[in-house]
Amino acid sequence: MTGTADVLVIGGGIAGVSAAARIAPDARVTVLEHEGAIGVHATGRSAAIFIANYGNATLRSLNAVSGPELEAPDFLDDTVLSPRGEMVVATEAELPDLERHLAEGTGVERLTPDEAVALVPVLRRELIHGAAIERDARDIDVDRLLQGFARLLRRHGGRIVTGAGAGRIERADGVWRVATAAGAFEAPVLVNAAGAWADTVAGLAGATPVGLVPMRRSAAILPAPPGHAVDRWPLFVSASESWYAKPEAGKLMVSPADEDPVEPHDAWPDDMVLAEGLDRFERMTTVEVTRVERSWAGLRSFVADRTPVVGFAPDADGFFWLAGQGGYGVQTSPALSRLAADLVLGRVPALPADVVAALHPGRPGLAA
Ligand SMILES: Cc1cc2nc3c(=O)[nH]c(=O)nc-3n(C[C@H](O)[C@H](O)[C@H](O)COP(=O)(O)OP(=O)(O)OC[C@H]3O[C@@H](n4cnc5c(N)ncnc54)[C@H](O)[C@@H]3O)c2cc1C
Repeated sequence: MTGTADVLVIGGGIAGVSAAARIAPDARVTVLEHEGAIGVHATGRSAAIFIANYGNATLRSLNAVSGPELEAPDFLDDTVLSPRGEMVVATEAELPDLERHLAEGTGVERLTPDEAVALVPVLRRELIHGAAIERDARDIDVDRLLQGFARLLRRHGGRIVTGAGAGRIERADGVWRVATAAGAFEAPVLVNAAGAWADTVAGLAGATPVGLVPMRRSAAILPAPPGHAVDRWPLFVSASESWYAKPEAGKLMVSPADEDPVEPHDAWPDDMVLAEGLDRFERMTTVEVTRVERSWAGLRSFVADRTPVVGFAPDADGFFWLAGQGGYGVQTSPALSRLAADLVLGRVPALPADVVAALHPGRPGLAA
């Protein structure tokens, strides 16, 4: 098979599929995905939460734009968000972290330790010295969002080709030519939305890598603690982000909140990292972890300033970066996909200029 398009997108995660969906009304776009389905890597392994106060100032601007769109997506007949809340709890040693969280956040409410324990009764009251809640944090139905973007893309004539890992990438006569197991594809613009593999793809295309570091994050599903209905609990997280827990279909998802730098790969949890994280969770709660029903890991990929990289590469014609979304790629996908479409299509971005500049691949201190 060969395919000619205006824009090729490498990567069928939330970044690539959402950007392609926003480009598709105005250009012929094809998504190339290595795996047999979309959303197999980071996108399908996330904690699926929207937290407005998560990330640095640039990310919070993206969160602010993305929230209303997730609440009422123009391409779905219903919201992808549902109530959850995020409660931060602090030991005595973590009180400075909690104060920073309260000072930097908007819409974050202080709670007394008693109020925190009333919300999540398995917390050990004697260890909780402070707490705060962002009531407006919400669960995201990631699969509905991803599939919604994919349908929007197809409705506008775009294509998703799975089993199409980009191997050789060449540019000649103003056109990128990408060789994959599913055939060769050509387009003048190449969007690099390859998640943890984005620097690898840049290397194949002869563009300078941005110093992306994939960081493994693990999670485990535990049965609900006996005698507790967990469904209405908020996500609860230690103020130093050394573990967090979240209700998940009547059970509890617990994460060690690990950030171990790794090579890009199909991630799985490290047994020791998971065990140590579960131990940190157990010490703060009355939960006794006797059985892990399921566990997984995914890669959150960051550059040095922990801000996504979005824009045309300064050193490779027609090579567009859409990478480095770290732990925020699902919740910021509405804003980042629209920005990517604006820039790829040569429109003035709807986002403020300082936000666009903070995301640009040519910003100082980025290249590896
Ligand atoms: C445990 C965990 C919890 C998280 N929780 C949240 C959360 O609550 N909220 C939130 O917003 N974000 C969260 N994240 C982050 C979020 O999942 C990511 O930021 C987001 O999914 C990144 O999307 P992506 O499309 O860039 O990457 P991916 O989903 O990894 O997609 C990249 C795709 O590129 C493909 N690819 C790579 N190389 C090639 C190639 N050469 N040719 C073709 N295809 C290629 C891969 O197969 C992959 O499918 C979490 C992540 C993890 C791991």
